[in-house]
Amino acid sequence: MNTALDLAYRAARAWIDGLDERSVAATASLMDLKRSFAGPLPYEGSSAEEVVQALARDAGPGMHGNAGGRFFAWVIGGGLESALAADWLVATWDQNATVYASSPASAVIEETAGEWIKELLDLPRDASFAFTGGCQMAHMTSLAAARAALLRRVGWNVEEDGLIGAPGIRVLTSDQRHVTVDRAVRFLGIGRKAIDQLKTDGDGRVSPAVLDGALSDSSTPTMLVLNAADLNIGACDAFRELISMAHSAGAWVHIDGAFGLFARASRTYRHLLDGVELADSWATDGHKWLNVPFDCGIAIIADREAHRTAMTSSASYVAPTSIARDQSDWNPEYSRRARGVPVYAALKQLGRSGMEALVDRCCAHCANIVEGIGELPGAEILARPTLNQGLLRFARPGASPAENDAFTDETIQKINATGEAFFSGTTWRNHRAMRVSVVNWRTSEQDVKRAIAAATSVLTPEVAAPIGLEVAPLANT
Ligand SMILES: *Cc1c(COP(=O)(O)O)cnc(C)c1O
Repeated sequence: MNTALDLAYRAARAWIDGLDERSVAATASLMDLKRSFAGPLPYEGSSAEEVVQALARDAGPGMHGNAGGRFFAWVIGGGLESALAADWLVATWDQNATVYASSPASAVIEETAGEWIKELLDLPRDASFAFTGGCQMAHMTSLAAARAALLRRVGWNVEEDGLIGAPGIRVLTSDQRHVTVDRAVRFLGIGRKAIDQLKTDGDGRVSPAVLDGALSDSSTPTMLVLNAADLNIGACDAFRELISMAHSAGAWVHIDGAFGLFARASRTYRHLLDGVELADSWATDGHKWLNVPFDCGIAIIADREAHRTAMTSSASYVAPTSIARDQSDWNPEYSRRARGVPVYAALKQLGRSGMEALVDRCCAHCANIVEGIGELPGAEILARPTLNQGLLRFARPGASPAENDAFTDETIQKINATGEAFFSGTTWRNHRAMRVSVVNWRTSEQDVKRAIAAATSVLTPEVAAPIGLEVAPLANT
């Protein structure tokens, strides 16, 4: 059989089977990719088979191997097999998962997936939820509910009257927040100037004293956004204390838990998120630690009515009109794919115990990579992981800070150029650093060894070569 679908299936299988062997970094240059894909819109079409064959052949070299176990850049999960397979089915069924009537099974499966997520993360069981395109849109959905609820308390109906002429809102948030918090605030018309940045302490957390000062400063309706694991070092704010202070001041507390909220599934790590359940809304991702394919974010909101009022497309803001859960009452989009179905599949495959094992395993691998690379000459551990994120930098004796920043970026590039592992850089407390983020279910002890070997080959080629650790650099470094 050689239909386009057969070709795609075989190419997908070959991609997965080749992940251990291929370069983790994409090897095609921009020029190569333009040669393959740029050009005028064809007048005559091609066969479906030709299209799929050419795509599979030409795109591969321009793809990173982040579905595999040695990609530690940014915070990017893999795809559990059940979730990837479910995603294929979702595309094949081609349902419009906007209301129960337009896809009954999608509505019921997504509803179960949302209930399971609240249970796994141990968040209020009567909270509402929405499966969005990512954590950023989960922020936007949550903060839209916050905006509506805060303004209603001061006598303003934002759904009817909009923001023009409305009372001001301010957003208190950590100086270690993710950039998507700012984007959500912009998209909601609140504006960047409404953001007051809270300085974090030596552990990367908002201190109660700093929050206290900010809360006593103003009577403006306030949102507070806290980190349930910040992107650099996985720092978690002191939720119990901070949330109680914010609630006393009438603020709405929103949690950025893009990956970190999943640490709630682990008995070893959940103490880091103690009290996070007391917040008003939570945003997280399916496509990071839960390992469902892109794109999948999840918004969870304690005040169901505020959520529904902010999002519903029905004329009735008060009562549901359908016999079942309509996604469009809770989601920012209208037509949409049933992205909660892969979540259902992942949770069913893993179970509570599988998720816990995945979290614990990733944290252990992260610690081993940071320690292993940290022992190499020229390497320095900037932040030992408390969860699944850690930071290293590279320095030479007698070099200036600027030279060491450049050396760090150069070392990251050289490690990535080995094709054996892939890391990204970040700036943390004025240092350039290499971030180690482990959230992929595939990462194994063997992957950890290969990643450390790749760093060894770059930092001490004279040590690495004789013991067989030499890795041939790729042509296009
Ligand atoms: C990835 C990430 C986000 C943004 O999530 P998207 O799914 O890319 O929208 C927000 N916050 C943190 C801490 C993240 O790691």
